[in-house]
Amino acid sequence: MSKLTGSKKATQFTESVIREMTRLNQLHGGVNLSQGFPDFPAPAAVKEAACAAIRADVNQYAVTWGARGLREAIARDFEQRHGLRIVPDEQVTVCCGATEAMMATMMGVIDPGDEVVIFEPFYENYGPDAILSGATPRYVTLREPSWTFDPDELAAAFNNRTKAIILNTPNNPTGKVFSREELEAIAALCRKWDVLAISDEIYEHIIYDGRRHIPIATVEGMADRTVTINSLSKTYSVTGWRVGWTISPPALTGAIRKVHDFLTVGAAAPLQEAGVAALATPESYYIELAEGYRRRRDRLMDILERHHFTCYQPGGAYYIMTDIRVFGFANDVAFARYLVKDIGVAAVPGSSFYRDQASGRTKLRFCFCKRDETLDEADRRLAKLQNLATAPK
Ligand code: GLN
Repeated sequence: MSKLTGSKKATQFTESVIREMTRLNQLHGGVNLSQGFPDFPAPAAVKEAACAAIRADVNQYAVTWGARGLREAIARDFEQRHGLRIVPDEQVTVCCGATEAMMATMMGVIDPGDEVVIFEPFYENYGPDAILSGATPRYVTLREPSWTFDPDELAAAFNNRTKAIILNTPNNPTGKVFSREELEAIAALCRKWDVLAISDEIYEHIIYDGRRHIPIATVEGMADRTVTINSLSKTYSVTGWRVGWTISPPALTGAIRKVHDFLTVGAAAPLQEAGVAALATPESYYIELAEGYRRRRDRLMDILERHHFTCYQPGGAYYIMTDIRVFGFANDVAFARYLVKDIGVAAVPGSSFYRDQASGRTKLRFCFCKRDETLDEADRRLAKLQNLATAPK
């Protein structure tokens, strides 16, 4: 057999379904409610800071683990918001987006055979992250409509081989915001089994209806066993800049930094400078951001419900998971393809967020990080679905 093949690791996962939907959408000229990125501008001050940094010739490598100013700003922001002291030199590593931050963390801490607990549905990257780092995933189901987990099922997923649990709150794709009680239950298991929490908190500021984001690092006994991951992408509408970071216990920072260094050397230097300006944005910005997304959430909920989707209202993040059984398609992929090709609206098949494909087959994820005009255009196009949902099958 030829040796000119992909590695065993690379053949264990498929290309990203989310990004494939964006490509299909471009092919069919659809309204893209699949891949989660805003179609409105980033804050002017943040863009200006990036331009100014390039004009000032911040063009060479930043310090591998992140420009000092940005690491200090990240530590200060976390400390002020959540009351936990962070030492930038010992705990903060700037990466190329939360995607690399997650991969550098997993490769830095996981050995083949280690088990990692993952809530399902999960953001699709966590599957390949586990495969590439050699982890054996153990899935725990979040059940609609409120995406709660069974505490006994969670407890049963932990054992002596468990190295880490991956958490994502506010959650993609469900919009679930983990409550203090839930985080305490997770923390108790982490302490009992000496397990690390890897917590993806990129939707921290996109949260609704008076809910509050609680980093698991701030739960009792968790500061020394949590890697918190965040980024500029969602908070400042700059998903293409690829600036993210980890805040890790000092004992793990060296491992994460080494992997990060050899994966990417560092994130774009001028954009790291802009990150300092972004993190200095006045508090009113974050309030308006959340309010703007709350309004868009309600708009898309209304659109989807009028067109016969069953929606699970998100408490945070910018996605709506829907149930599509009423449309009578064989599965989510067939329906998603029909929707982009014949209706002109792209969404993500639910199965790409599940290991248990059957649970995802009845679902579709829509994002609402879009201008009103974009959502209204989706509304007009989805009107063509009406007869289909109500017609006898
Ligand atoms: N996080 C976004 C989503 O879930 C974008 C994913 C990506 O393409 N990196 O749609």
